[in-house]
Amino acid sequence: MHEMALAEGVLQIVEDTVQGQSCSKVVKIWLEIGELSHVEPAAMEFCFEAVVKGSIAEGAALQIDRAPGKAWCHNCGHEVHVASLIAACPLCNGFKLQVTGGEDMRVKEMEVD
Ligand SMILES: [Zn+2]
Repeated sequence: MHEMALAEGVLQIVEDTVQGQSCSKVVKIWLEIGELSHVEPAAMEFCFEAVVKGSIAEGAALQIDRAPGKAWCHNCGHEVHVASLIAACPLCNGFKLQVTGGEDMRVKEMEVD
């Protein structure tokens, strides 16, 4: 389950961000997970809850937003929405797609106390 390592990465980002700030705890974290990122939101939630135990983010609510997968179609010249990396272009059914978005996971925002 690679979500465990990713959850640790998220916690690292959170800890780095709040370092030096006068906050006692992290209340909420907004996480954006791209549709094409191979990260399972449910697994991410589960792992996150496990890794934050004893940290400044213990008990923090995790809000997961999905970023749509986007690709540029070289066949018809449009930017299209794709739900998987092996999808065909929804406009022309071509396979010459270059992914342009939705492959990443990032911490969008957080609320501290
Ligand atoms: Zn196309």
